[in-house]
Amino acid sequence: MADIPQILELPENDTIVALATPTGRGALAILRISGSDSISVVSEIWKGKNPLDSMRGGSASVGIIDIGDLREKAVATVWRAPNSYTGQDIIELTIHGSHPLVVEIERAIIERGARAAAPGEFTYRALLNGKMNLSEAGAVKALIDAPGIAAVRAVSRTLSGEFEGKVREILDKLSRINLDLVADTEFPEAVEILSPDSIDTEIESILSETSALFERMRAGGKLAKLMSVVIIGPPNAGKSTLANALLGRVRSIVHSEPGTTRDLIESECDFGGVPALLVDTAGLRDTDHGIELIGVDLAHKRLASADLVINVIDFSLPLTAEIEKTLLLTDKMDRIVVLNKKDIAQNCDFEGGIEVSSLMGEGIEDLRGIIAKRLIGEEREALWAGEWQIDRVSKALDCLVNALIAFKTNATDAALEELLEAEKALRGAIGENAGKDIIARVLDDFCIGK
Ligand code: GDP
Repeated sequence: MADIPQILELPENDTIVALATPTGRGALAILRISGSDSISVVSEIWKGKNPLDSMRGGSASVGIIDIGDLREKAVATVWRAPNSYTGQDIIELTIHGSHPLVVEIERAIIERGARAAAPGEFTYRALLNGKMNLSEAGAVKALIDAPGIAAVRAVSRTLSGEFEGKVREILDKLSRINLDLVADTEFPEAVEILSPDSIDTEIESILSETSALFERMRAGGKLAKLMSVVIIGPPNAGKSTLANALLGRVRSIVHSEPGTTRDLIESECDFGGVPALLVDTAGLRDTDHGIELIGVDLAHKRLASADLVINVIDFSLPLTAEIEKTLLLTDKMDRIVVLNKKDIAQNCDFEGGIEVSSLMGEGIEDLRGIIAKRLIGEEREALWAGEWQIDRVSKALDCLVNALIAFKTNATDAALEELLEAEKALRGAIGENAGKDIIARVLDDFCIGK
C-alpha cells in the first residue's frame, strides 16, 4: 500500500495555487488558483476593466497583474463553484512562460493568503466535490503520462465513462440474480425465482462479459507503459539491419563480420501509434571471446523482461543446430520469427515466419503492423484502468468461475457466496466505498498543478 500522502490531511477549502503548465521556458504559463477565497486573493494584484468578482464563470478578461515593481499583462479566466474542475471558485492566470516570472507571481499570490498546492490536490478536491469519480481521477493521470496515441485513446474511453458504464451494466445483471437467490434462501415459499437453468445461463453470460472487460483493461494497461521489443537471433542474421529498418534510421552498426553488436542498443520506435523500446542485441552464439560473451549474457538477461521477442533468422541459410537453439530458447516466449534476407536464396524451411528483406525494406511495413497488433493484442477496444481496478475485476472473475462450478454441482449456498463476493469486487472496481488507501493509490505520483 502506498503511504497516505499528506494531501488527504490538508484543509479542503483554503485557497491553493500551482503552476498548471510544465516548469521551464514556454510561450505561455498558466497559474491555477482554487478555493473559496481565490477571487478575492487574486483581486488584490489584478488591475483590469472588469473586476474579477464581477466576471461570470467560464469568462476570460485581459488585465494587468500588478505586484509593485513588476507589471505583467495577463488573461484571467474565472470559473465559478460548482462548475469548475475542483468544484470550487477557480482563477487561471495565463502569463508569459518565463520561470522567474511564474515564481514571482506565485509568491505574490501566496503572500496574499493562498498556499502552494500539493501534487494532485486539485484532482483530490474534484473527487471530494463529486466532480469526478476515482476511475476518472486515475485516468487524468494516465492521460498525462500516456506514451502514445493508442494509450490516449484507451484513457479517453475511460474518461468518457465507458469503463464505469460497462461495470455498472454487469453489476445490474449480477445484483438481480443475487437478490433473487437471497430472497429464495430467506423466503423459499413466498418468492418465485428464476429457474436454475436460466440462472446458469445468466452467470455464464456475466462471466463472459466480465472476462471480455478484463481483456480490454489488460490491453489498456499494456499500452500505458513503454513496452520492449527485443531483437535476437544468431550473428549475421541481419538483426541490426532490421532494427535500423524498423526505426527508419541508422542506429546500429551493420557489418558482415559476426559479433559487431555487443552492447544492448535501445531506441524508442513507433509502431503506428504504439511506441515501444526496440532493443538490438548481440547475436546469441557460443563464444569464448570476452567482450562478445558479455554481450550475449546481456542479451539473455534482456530477453527475460521483453514484452515481445523478434527472433531473426537468415532465410538464405538452412536451419543449423545454432539457429535451432535460439528458436528453442524463444519458443515459449511471446515471439515473432522473422525470416530475413528474402531477396536472396531461400534455403530455410522454418514454417510460420514473417518473410522480410531488411536490406531492401521489403515486408517492413507489414512487420511493423504485426508487431503493433501483438503488443496491444487484437483488441482495438483497449480500456485504461488502474492496477487497483484490474485487481478487483480479476477477483470478480475468479468468484464468478467458482460460482458457476458451485451452481452446476447444486451447491447453491456456496454459489451465492461467490456471487456476492463478485458483486463486492465489481463495486470496488468503480470506487464504491473506497477507503483512503485507494484514494492515496490513485493520487500517488500526481504532478503539482493537477
Ligand atoms: P547482425 O549481426 O544479425 O546484426 O547482422 P547485420 O545487420 O550486421 O547484417 C549482417 C550482414 O547481412 C550484413 O552484411 C548485411 O548487409 C547483410 N544483410 C542484412 N539484412 C539483409 C537482407 O535483408 N538481405 C541481404 N541480402 N543482406 C542482408
